[in-house]
Amino acid sequence: MKLVSVVVPCYNEQEVLPMFYDEITKVTDKMSADYPELEFEFLFINDGSKDRTLQLLRELADRDKRVRYISFSRNFGKESGMYAGLKNAKGDYVVVMDADLQHPPSFLPEMYSYVKDGEYDCATTRRVNRKGESKVRSWFAMQFYKIMNKISQTEIVDGAQDFRFMTRQMVDAILDMSEYNRFSKGIFSWVGFNVRYIPYENVERPAGTTSWSFWGLFKYSLEGIMAFSTAPLAVSSFLGILSCIISFILIIITVIKTLAFGESVDGYPTTICVIFMLSGLQLFCTGILGQYLSKTYLETKKRPIYIAKETDELYRNRKKEKS
Ligand code: UDP
Ligand code: MG
Repeated sequence: MKLVSVVVPCYNEQEVLPMFYDEITKVTDKMSADYPELEFEFLFINDGSKDRTLQLLRELADRDKRVRYISFSRNFGKESGMYAGLKNAKGDYVVVMDADLQHPPSFLPEMYSYVKDGEYDCATTRRVNRKGESKVRSWFAMQFYKIMNKISQTEIVDGAQDFRFMTRQMVDAILDMSEYNRFSKGIFSWVGFNVRYIPYENVERPAGTTSWSFWGLFKYSLEGIMAFSTAPLAVSSFLGILSCIISFILIIITVIKTLAFGESVDGYPTTICVIFMLSGLQLFCTGILGQYLSKTYLETKKRPIYIAKETDELYRNRKKEKS
């Protein structure tokens, strides 16, 4: 028998969770019938939800013994949720997907067909367009992928998603990357392996709301750049050298002007301009340095990536004790 673990990070998903469970079990039941060697487990990660997500997960665990869950002590973010899921999944294959049905479970049979013979280690969907997204957002996203792929050795595929069907081997490779600052689009790509991309049109959420604001996404893209590229550090050195060259040229011009043509230079305005420009440049470069330092600082602390407060095991044991 082969076990497939379906990992689902959930943050305030009370509206879609029941729908998701119905959909996914429909698909997995059909798959179990088509491929008798397949067994499934569903591992939900409750990422510190403030709504009834945890209660719903408990109810699902009561109803279906394939349902497992890990509930965090607070909101740690989706990256931590995925890490916890991969770490605790027991399957020979692991699927990562969102709870909001934007990653349609109907793709699973096709994904499995690519992975099962060992030709591919991972099957994933790739958005072919950005329908249903604002123009501004699409533009920023495009710029991000352009810059990112120019400055990083790790290829970040535009439109690639966290909807993945992976072999145990690939999952173990991902778990070996136990870094604290997790940027999974980069991590999935960094580990390599044969990846099959399945083109797909974006689907809207049937209920609930996205937890990503524009600002949140912007900060996330900066995280990504810093996690997978040191180019900004090189840029700051380059700016330093450039401003040295400019000032050197300016000095020569000023000296020639004064000596050869006897022109006097307006001291005050030029000085102020130069001071502003150079001090701005210096702060900018120190800032970049500081960003990398702060990331290093957090990594050296070796803080846990998530803290579990409750699991299905704990819940089931408690219930047994009571009865
Ligand atoms: N999510 C999470 N922790 C968070 C934010 C989101 O586990 O802090 C989950 C969320 O429940 C969903 C998935 O990550 O299953 C994707 O989130 P969302 O739909 O808000 O993002 P989008 O699809 O808009 O990128
Ligand atoms: Mg979503």
